[in-house]
Order: sequence, then structure tokens, then C-alpha cells
Amino acid sequence: MIVYNMVGTSGRKCICKTGPRTWLSHWERGTNENLPDKCCAKYCRNEVEVGAHVKIEGEDGRIPWIVPFCQYHNKRPSSEPIELKSGVTLCGAAKVDCEV
Ligand SMILES: [Zn+2]
Ligand SMILES: [Zn+2]
Repeated sequence: MIVYNMVGTSGRKCICKTGPRTWLSHWERGTNENLPDKCCAKYCRNEVEVGAHVKIEGEDGRIPWIVPFCQYHNKRPSSEPIELKSGVTLCGAAKVDCEV
């Protein structure tokens, strides 16, 4: 799966009603998975540091997705395609506890 960083998302806040309002916690709530140790970008061996806002290739970007990244990959320009490791789960950035 190929994703692109989204621009202008650094001010966005998680608004979940329960749990820590970090994007990494949001990802855990939304996916019911434990955070991976390593960044989800293919071949990257850095530790997970942030929940990055990304757009999936081919989508219009109206729905941002959260993926656990290292700072390096979180800072890639939005024009740069980033291939993810296989089996990576993305979590919608919308409020998790409002979803059914
Ligand atoms: Zn949230
Ligand atoms: Zn990385």
C-alpha cells in the first residue's frame, strides 16, 4: 500500500472521549491492535514515534488515515510516495468512540 503524508494536519487534535488523546493512542483504540515497535514504512527500522496523517494513494484525501511512523517518515514531503509494510492497519482519523 502506498500512502502520502497530508499537509496542514499538525494542528489536528484527537477528540476521542476516552483514553489519551494522542494519535498513537487513537490508532490503538481504532484498530484494537498493539502499537508496532517499528515504523510502518517499508524497510524502516526506526522506532514508532508519532501517529502520522496520511492519504492512501488513489483516494482524494478527504478522509485522513493514521499510521504509526517514525519522525523521519512523518516529515517526508506530501509529494513523496511511502510504501507501507505488508499487513499494516490504518485507522481513520475520525473520532473512534463515535464509530459503531
Ligand atoms: Zn481519537
Ligand atoms: Zn520510518
